[in-house]
Amino acid sequence: MTVALLEAGGRDTNPWIHIPAGYFRTMFNPDVTWQYGAGPEPHLGGRVVPWPRGRVLGGSSSINGLLYVRGQARDYDVWRQLGNEGWSYREVLPYFRRSEDQERGADELHGSGGPLAVTDVRMSNPLCEAYIDAGAEAGIPRTRDFNGKSQEGVGYYQLTTRDGRRASTAMSYLKPATHRPNLRVITNAQVENIVLDGKRATGVRCKANGMSKTIKARREVLLAAGAIGSPQILELSGIGQPAVLNSAGVTVRHDLPGVGENLQDHYQVRFIYDMSLKHSLNDVWNNPWLKLMTGLEYAATRRGILTVGAGVVGLFAKTRPELEEPDIQFHFMPLSAERPGQGMHTFSGVTASICMLRPESRGHQHITSADPTAQPAIVANYLAEEVDRQVTLDGMKLARKIAEQPSFKRHLKREVMPGPEVQTDEAMLAVAKEKGTTVFHPCGTCKMGSDPKAVVDQRLRVHGIKGLRVIDASIMPNMISGNTNAPTIMIAEKASDMIREDARQRV
Ligand SMILES: Cc1cc2nc3c(=O)[nH]c(=O)nc-3n(C[C@H](O)[C@H](O)[C@H](O)COP(=O)(O)OP(=O)(O)OC[C@H]3O[C@@H](n4cnc5c(N)ncnc54)[C@H](O)[C@@H]3O)c2cc1C
Repeated sequence: MTVALLEAGGRDTNPWIHIPAGYFRTMFNPDVTWQYGAGPEPHLGGRVVPWPRGRVLGGSSSINGLLYVRGQARDYDVWRQLGNEGWSYREVLPYFRRSEDQERGADELHGSGGPLAVTDVRMSNPLCEAYIDAGAEAGIPRTRDFNGKSQEGVGYYQLTTRDGRRASTAMSYLKPATHRPNLRVITNAQVENIVLDGKRATGVRCKANGMSKTIKARREVLLAAGAIGSPQILELSGIGQPAVLNSAGVTVRHDLPGVGENLQDHYQVRFIYDMSLKHSLNDVWNNPWLKLMTGLEYAATRRGILTVGAGVVGLFAKTRPELEEPDIQFHFMPLSAERPGQGMHTFSGVTASICMLRPESRGHQHITSADPTAQPAIVANYLAEEVDRQVTLDGMKLARKIAEQPSFKRHLKREVMPGPEVQTDEAMLAVAKEKGTTVFHPCGTCKMGSDPKAVVDQRLRVHGIKGLRVIDASIMPNMISGNTNAPTIMIAEKASDMIREDARQRV
């Protein structure tokens, strides 16, 4: 079997990709990202929410916040209950374990020796300790492992890094395979559409370094262009809702109404605090001398603040005591900025962002023209459902409760955002709508299942089209309760077995 891997972006040569904290520099760099926008969002006053995605080998795993979170067992059991055989937690756990190289060693839930390195944070900070203590004082159990038997708790995140450097899928999976004679990696090659012979995919058409090319697939076409790219390519190929395709000027080849529907994402609201304890990373970043020392520390030891991801402390909690599992996640960082990825504040800031784990709001994204370079119209529909608004509000109240605990309060100067004047439910919700941002987890737009809105079956084959699979975050029928990188890698691990099994059956 020979494999051609096509990537619209380039190679991952930008050095900031490989330094974990480089995330703050790369996520809005158009050389390595697609700069999408979700909106105008009908429930956020018509705002457009910036949606960066990786456009480089490794995709978003090359620019993401590196947090290693799998979600809850129930997430996958629900996928199975929706009719997807083989996707219960018990059945996907071996793929999480197989992918993992857990620094703490293997056990019944964790793997070691896999391609994806998972490590503990390589820095210490008293403000992080204070937040963990405050969480415990607010009644949330301490935990060392959000991917253990129970997700609930407060403690440090683990990161996808190896020796203090980013463990992207390009570094973990692709690089070790590049010597294989049957693999050809073609970068700067944007797929424009899938070539169909009736109802069979026979290849792809792409623009590689400005030249149009058709690449034939003897066995199958595997679409892994992400939650935005995969439905976009299907629609550009004439696979989708006839009304959408007709108005975009694309000939309908296969009526598949679920393409681009069922869009889900995590929506976060940030709390920013000014601290009297001068241990914010803002204090380091805004001081040229300390910044230099940080660079030297990282160069010498691969430790220190350049190893931080999108959160240092995590917290998974229940907003109501009667819940069986957490419904809210916190990302706590000992730094602050006006917007994620922008310059840091000049005061000693820290940030606690909260997001609801299983939002019920559903959005959609569709092409509006036959031009493959045009951004699809994306509407996430954040906060459309009352339950999403309520849980977000309850999460904000929990953030306030934690900040009131002695271990945190003793170092707290003031709440900068939303600010002490924001007190009523109405005012808090207004802030959520006005200031909330994405946690960068779009998924669900080519959902797996067997109902009329499903796009792929449980073996990730596109319904009604032969020789075509989708293997990325778009196939998740429901959002998982956490960050989406590890689950996407699990999906790919499982898909690799299915591809091999199906190939053997064909022979
Ligand atoms: C800024 C940011 C921070 C994040 N932080 C975290 C985190 O801390 N932890 C976590 O678990 N998850 C995080 N995520 C989410 C996680 O990285 C993604 O869910 C995961 O990478 C999704 O993988 P995917 O394969 O579905 O899509 P992607 O990783 O987006 O990959 C899609 C690939 O397809 C390519 N592509 C798209 N269209 C075409 C085309 N037409 N032709 C050729 N190639 C194409 C893209 O360039 C890209 O390389 C973050 C994401 C972002 C953007």
